[in-house]
Amino acid sequence: MTKLRIGNKALIKDMNRSVVINTIRKVGPLSRTDISTQTGLGLSTITKIVEELKNSRLVFETGAANSTGGRRPILLEFNKQYAYAVGVKIMKDHLVLALTDLDATIIHSLEVPFHPTDSPTEIIQLIIHTIEQLLSKQQVKIDQVEGIGVAVSGLVDSKKGLVVRSPLLGWEDVALSKPIQDVFQKPVFIDNDVNAYTYAEVEKGHGLHQNNFICVSIGDGIGMSIVIDRKLYSGEFGGAGEFGHTIIQVDGRSCHCGQEGCLEMYASTIALEQESTVLFRSYPNSILLNKKLTFDSVYDAALAGDEMAIVLFDKLGYYLGIGLINAINSFNPGTIVLIGEGMIAQEYFLPTAITKAKKNFFYHDRYETKVLISRLGNDAWVKGAAILAINQLFQPPIYESTPSLLS
Ligand SMILES: [Zn+2]
Repeated sequence: MTKLRIGNKALIKDMNRSVVINTIRKVGPLSRTDISTQTGLGLSTITKIVEELKNSRLVFETGAANSTGGRRPILLEFNKQYAYAVGVKIMKDHLVLALTDLDATIIHSLEVPFHPTDSPTEIIQLIIHTIEQLLSKQQVKIDQVEGIGVAVSGLVDSKKGLVVRSPLLGWEDVALSKPIQDVFQKPVFIDNDVNAYTYAEVEKGHGLHQNNFICVSIGDGIGMSIVIDRKLYSGEFGGAGEFGHTIIQVDGRSCHCGQEGCLEMYASTIALEQESTVLFRSYPNSILLNKKLTFDSVYDAALAGDEMAIVLFDKLGYYLGIGLINAINSFNPGTIVLIGEGMIAQEYFLPTAITKAKKNFFYHDRYETKVLISRLGNDAWVKGAAILAINQLFQPPIYESTPSLLS
């Protein structure tokens, strides 16, 4: 277990500093009085902390606030150019990397392909090489980078920096953080890719108006992240949100996870493939015959009026709706945010899914969960990976080994 720091004066000071910088970072620019109101800390404490933060260049004073007369207060703003962060997203057959400022604004990004049979070691080397390339293109030195965040599919042990299992990549027990950290001598944080996207959603998307929500990803698999009081719930082993492997059909289709009847077998790309093997008998003239079925290809067919494509999405929507009922009944979220490449075809499956999902336990009590679509776009994966690193750097340093910009 990670060792907690002893609760002494230095710890309290570090925690207060973390509260102040995070308030300025997330809600600023703010005056010292605003910060005091927001945090409940006394003005003298705030003045002292702000002085230190100004000296370390993490915050700077900016133009005076509008005021109705009298002396106008000076505002404090977070210096997002203080340093850089790097976000990395490992996809099925390529990497996406982005250099960002400390507000996760992308300065430059790169995409590099790899072969699906490449070993974890080869892919990690490719990450290292591409980070070097990214930095040199922007003439940024590694010393100016404070943290690297990596988003990867599957079960991820963030504390150990380990990918426990990623069926998509075929990885088992891959130490991902350490080799990157060893090369760059910078903290590397890893998390599940849906969690990374959700960090972006919390800070830049629907999370701006919601404290309790879940993100559900629809694509090659089905994933979920759970946000409780604006924080991600990761579970005991980092595996919370294996929504794709909740069972919706007793003794149903065999899943690659070893169970039977998992939602992923009924509402992901795999479902399109599986369902079609039966449906082709009824639709022998479908233009999807002999095609690789993906959300993109089935969507194109549906647009062209292919009946089987429309039936495929309708069935997928029905099962997704059942899955959403289970999620709503389990978590009572204010909102479900849908993300992922499957959303390209939302017009064909979402109305069915939403209609089905409305018949949940809470419906009769008029506590309706909103189902919304993420507006962040594809950048959010890699942005979220950068946010993962940035947030860690400003965490209250309550653990002895936490890398931090604050202590
Ligand atoms: Zn499964």
